[in-house]
Amino acid sequence: MIKVEGLTKYYGDFLAVDGVSFEVNQGEIVGLLGPNGAGKTTTLRILTGYLLPSAGEVKIKDYDIYNHLMEIKKIIGYLPEQTPLYNDMLVYDYLEFIAKSKEIDKEGILPEIKRVAEICQIKNVMHKPIGELSKGYKQRVGLAAALLGDPEILILDEPTSGLDPNQIIEIREIIKEIGKEKTVLFSTHILSEAEATCDRLVIIHKGKIVADGKTEDLKKGEGKFTVEIELENAEKESVAREIEKLENVEEVKVEEDGKILKVKVFGNSDFRKDLYSLIKSKDWFLLEFAKKSETLEEIFRKLTRE
Ligand code: ATP
Repeated sequence: MIKVEGLTKYYGDFLAVDGVSFEVNQGEIVGLLGPNGAGKTTTLRILTGYLLPSAGEVKIKDYDIYNHLMEIKKIIGYLPEQTPLYNDMLVYDYLEFIAKSKEIDKEGILPEIKRVAEICQIKNVMHKPIGELSKGYKQRVGLAAALLGDPEILILDEPTSGLDPNQIIEIREIIKEIGKEKTVLFSTHILSEAEATCDRLVIIHKGKIVADGKTEDLKKGEGKFTVEIELENAEKESVAREIEKLENVEEVKVEEDGKILKVKVFGNSDFRKDLYSLIKSKDWFLLEFAKKSETLEEIFRKLTRE
């Protein structure tokens, strides 16, 4: 649906996007993740036809950005980072204005505004001036504007930036709802959001892609394996010593919590059977046994460290 190949953007001498390639398939919700200044906005502005690349190819369905800009703008709904909402305008008037600019036919405008107002839950503020709305409602209005004309693809630049936790959840739910029918690409640096909403993540750092995959696959990391156990009737030093001997185990950390030992075992591949056999062969009482994935935060930190 979206195919980006070798996308490069210079601002003067500064290389902001450096040979980026990725794809978004039909019906996917993909998160473009990266720290501040990574090149997310630049990439999204190119995809939506608001900025020309210095080099590279972008195909949206069968259209390329060099020859089919108008067609592309018709099939994409875009929520820019700073939505250009006009504070003095009533919400309805603003949506009507956007609908006209998208060349929705006259009779179609009212039902279309009703449709997007329903999805974005803004029916109760239709006749309020935009300037009087909370940030969360403004963002919903921006989203509603992006949805006008029923575009197949939604591109959203940091849709939850600056919102409070409740507003974040509300916008996230709307995105998920939209994603049931549409292809969605959105940028964020909020990891929990990406994890909760996206089928797939593309992580960008200093203009380059450093990871691209399903959230679950990314969390599997590079074959690292962590197991947490809790033991009773066991002695700290001997627990550490015995577990360290096991094949594929690289590090053991033991903490005492009263009578209970909390043990973290790090390895390079699956050592669970050996660990369980060891526990069985001892007099230790096993209270907990859990395999831990790396958190997305840990992976993101690793990939985007200086
Ligand atoms: P953020 O999360 O802070 O919005 P981002 O990942 O969206 O960041 P971009 O806005 O794409 O990053 O910026 C990428 C780099 O390009 C940054 O270093 C930024 O300062 C620089 N940049 C962006 N726009 C321009 C411009 N018009 N002229 C010069 N440099 C720019």
